[in-house]
Amino acid sequence: MKLVFASSNINKIKEIQLLVSSKLEILSLNDIGCYEEIPETADTIEGNAILKANYVTQKYGYNCFADDSGLEVEILNGEPGVFSARYAGEPKNDNNNINKLLLNLKNETNRKANFKTVICLNLYENQNFFTGIINGEIIEEKIGSNGFGYDSIFVADGYNKTFAELSIEEKSKISHRGIAVKQLVEFLDRNFGL
Ligand code: IMP
Repeated sequence: MKLVFASSNINKIKEIQLLVSSKLEILSLNDIGCYEEIPETADTIEGNAILKANYVTQKYGYNCFADDSGLEVEILNGEPGVFSARYAGEPKNDNNNINKLLLNLKNETNRKANFKTVICLNLYENQNFFTGIINGEIIEEKIGSNGFGYDSIFVADGYNKTFAELSIEEKSKISHRGIAVKQLVEFLDRNFGL
């Protein structure tokens, strides 16, 4: 069965392909001829996942799932949260976002944070949600070169390496996105044998 993943981020597509059943053919936005930027104007992570999934289903007519994620830092009341991608302003820049966050946490001892993903699945007229959370902390300087976003400053609880030091396989086993996708995969298996 064909299922669109409403993303053109190559890192995410690779992560998700490792996790879904081979019975599912995952199509990216580019695979369905969608090259426009889908508006992400909601003020919650869940709201943006709904906007993206509905855009694809309504405009292109595909069963589709969309994810939206963010980094939530406890002492910053959940910032950058839904604004994670453009925390330091437009145009989006991972390095600037990291520098802004490290500055905001300068001399701060509570460095607890979590990554959160919400997946919205539009399948056969129904809408379902799957949430994944991984707790950890923000370290004081960047370490590692894999991954993207805030990976180089996030260390998951129980680990002594940043996400940017893990391989894509190691990360997807424990990441917020990995957890949410696992729930999606179990749901598809349980309800549709996919
Ligand atoms: P998105 O909704 O998955 O595109 O995530 C929004 C933003 O959150 C990204 O641009 C990153 O800044 C941050 N983010 C989400 N997931 C991750 C991750 O796995 N590692 C590092 N940063 C992430």
